[in-house]
Amino acid sequence: MRKHEKDSLIIGRFQPFHNGHMEVIRIISKASENLTIGIGSAQYSHSVNNPFTAGERYRMISNSLKEEGITNAYIVPIEDLNRSSVWVSHVVSMSPPFSVVYSNNSLTRRLFIEAGYKIEDSPLYNRSEYSGTEVRRRMLSGEDWRSLVPKAVTAVIDDINGIDRIKGLKDDI
Ligand code: ATP
Ligand code: MG
Repeated sequence: MRKHEKDSLIIGRFQPFHNGHMEVIRIISKASENLTIGIGSAQYSHSVNNPFTAGERYRMISNSLKEEGITNAYIVPIEDLNRSSVWVSHVVSMSPPFSVVYSNNSLTRRLFIEAGYKIEDSPLYNRSEYSGTEVRRRMLSGEDWRSLVPKAVTAVIDDINGIDRIKGLKDDI
């Protein structure tokens, strides 16, 4: 068996972490020995499209995993480099070892394929509702966003007054 053959990676911005992310992580964590969840664009926060800090997103994910009883996942914040040719080594330098990458993003897939990693498709669940863009849209418009995210995420967002924050940033779009 190749080293770390059953260790995998999934990357998202998780702005915020939602039920679609939770569903796919539930499945991948079962198929993996260890799973690394990379919080991408970690340096961004306090904008309408990237409202939450890496630490806040870390808490959302960590508490959701706890709620689900998932114990084989590592969470690693990863800043953007804006330099694709060295991005994979940047991610590798920040993560526990992995050899499988779950992604639907064509650039992410391309870069990891070229670096010799195994790429798995990651299925999308109820994508019309379970998307970060849709959750943020509902937060701004005052529609129901709570049903689209794990309970632990609503608790973190309430704790940091996240809705006030995103609404206060609305004029900056
Ligand atoms: P945004 O609309 O802000 O881009 P997003 O919902 O696309 O948010 P990202 O933070 O961009 O989520 O994370 C992307 C990762 O999450 C990808 O690997 C993608 O496959 C996975 N993902 C996103 N939505 C779903 C979903 N509904 N079901 C399963 N996986 C999902
Ligand atoms: Mg996306």
